[in-house]
Amino acid sequence: MRIGVHTRSADQPLDEARELGVDLVQLFTTDPQKWNKPVVSDGLRAIADSEVDVVVHSSYVLNVASLNNRIRIPSRKALAQQVETAKEIGAIGVVLHGGHVRDSEDPEKGVENWRKLFERQAEEGGFAVPIWVENTAGGDRAMARRFDAIARLWDAIGEFGPGFCLDTCHAWAGGEELDGVLDRVRAITGRIDLIHLNNSRDEFDSARDRHANLESGTIKADELRDIAENAGAPIILETPGEGVAADIAYLRG
Ligand SMILES: [Zn+2]
Repeated sequence: MRIGVHTRSADQPLDEARELGVDLVQLFTTDPQKWNKPVVSDGLRAIADSEVDVVVHSSYVLNVASLNNRIRIPSRKALAQQVETAKEIGAIGVVLHGGHVRDSEDPEKGVENWRKLFERQAEEGGFAVPIWVENTAGGDRAMARRFDAIARLWDAIGEFGPGFCLDTCHAWAGGEELDGVLDRVRAITGRIDLIHLNNSRDEFDSARDRHANLESGTIKADELRDIAENAGAPIILETPGEGVAADIAYLRG
């Protein structure tokens, strides 16, 4: 089992990785709440040159499904920049949330925007680093909350070979049972490239996205352990920092 963390140390992720003894690290290449261009810092270079694998998590502000030009177009541009940085630092994948359309809008249009993203990129030979679509917890018009929505999305983008990142907290809080979840995802996407292994502070189908440490949320810890064991994909913990060492020990145990 390959275990990693989302780094708390944007400046020195390699130090944190070595301290925790993990195989891979997930990081943002720029402030995830802003539209700033990524900068390859010394800390990023150090981890790029090390034995630790890197996953890039794209910024939260990105919404490639949006019907609003002033969000969708900058999202595409920012994604391109972040993929370029991901390539520069040798990242194995770029995680991108499914995004959403607004209340009065047709989700099918959001799916079309996803397809256009891959179509445009295909003309340039595809993305330089694989894009891993992540399921999200909230919203009635999300592209990748409920698995029936993910199936519609995959009907549109599957031919371009995107990857999938399953977040256990998001699935649970989004209203998808975790029993048999790996098989249900694989039936839709054909693959799972990464697991975000998180417990949830909130109840099933709460639509809330608040991660908890593995043994302290509303999901049974052994259910999370089973998913980690059977995923056939690397694990990233996005759990609260104070308990992350204990989460790693729990999985290794
Ligand atoms: Zn996640």
